[in-house]
Amino acid sequence: MQVDKDLIIIGGGAAGLSAAQYASRANLTVMVIEQMAAGGQCLIIGDLENYPGFPEPINGGDFAQLLEEQARKFGAEFLITTAKSIRKDGDIFTVDTGKGTFTSYAVIMSTGAQHRKLNVPGEKEFSGRGVSYCATCDGPFFKNKKMLVVGGGDAACDEASFLANLTDQVIMVHRRDRFRAQKSLADRVLHNPHIEVRFNTELQEIKGDMKVKSVSLLNNQSGEKYEEEVDAIFIFVGSIPQTSLVPEVPKDEAGYIITDQNMETETTGLYAAGDVRSTPFRQLVVAAGEGAVATHCATLRIDAIKGQAYV
Ligand code: NAP
Repeated sequence: MQVDKDLIIIGGGAAGLSAAQYASRANLTVMVIEQMAAGGQCLIIGDLENYPGFPEPINGGDFAQLLEEQARKFGAEFLITTAKSIRKDGDIFTVDTGKGTFTSYAVIMSTGAQHRKLNVPGEKEFSGRGVSYCATCDGPFFKNKKMLVVGGGDAACDEASFLANLTDQVIMVHRRDRFRAQKSLADRVLHNPHIEVRFNTELQEIKGDMKVKSVSLLNNQSGEKYEEEVDAIFIFVGSIPQTSLVPEVPKDEAGYIITDQNMETETTGLYAAGDVRSTPFRQLVVAAGEGAVATHCATLRIDAIKGQAYV
């Protein structure tokens, strides 16, 4: 049976763009379905400094553009729309989207993950009016102002360091007595004179009128509750994998898609790569590598279906 594309990739972050480049370079017909602009998490990185081969930091958006350009150069097509459902009949996948229905021999899910919310009073109300989940995007609006960062992982430490270039008044609160982040990122925060770290501290409420004015904080060791005036709050408390398209595919405890070492899910021909996949280390370089592996294994399947397998 004829299909519209050999391979459909859902999600155009580092994993999806790398998968697209490998697929189109291997002469597969490939379509990347992306809701907005390609780039995923790259787009919220100010200075990307740990991607191998870039000794000088590169802006995340510029890096995403390079990934997309490379995939397009070899023939990958992009469709900006929402993927609504995936189903499989025999060897063929059908993907319904906001711009039509497309068939393929294999699908790679590289839909990534979205910011987790704190769900404290005021968070929703002041979102976009002082509450943000992206320092690179919104930090410059609060230059020289007092900013609060919530979280203790890599993202919180990375973003706090970015914000500390814009102001000398960054307060960072984390609910535990030490950071979860990689030591190099944590040390950078702890040694930054513009960042005051308060461990064992929880954000309980965000207050203001038209915009954020203050927060209620709790020291979970002493039980002390107090108010702190701030101009902006940046929340980095992890992420939620975007898996609603594949409700039946097995996930780990945190909801990330489980695959084998070929990036293949329990559904033959359906692969997952990048931040949506269950993995111990979420990094751009890992996502890009997983995209390459997923495409390589999808290619073997597609060749077999087409009767072109090298046996
Ligand atoms: P993460 O590693 O899951 O860390 C989330 C942090 O938020 C944890 O410290 C957690 O506290 C805290 N948290 C979660 N829920 C909370 C709540 N309700 N209230 C208060 N605090 C809460 O998430 P991430 O930092 O977004 O990183 C996600 C992935 O991206 C990681 O794999 C990371 O390595 C990767 N990443 C890498 C870089 C880099 O290498 N430059 C940059 C950004 C992200 P506990 O520690 O108490 O659980």
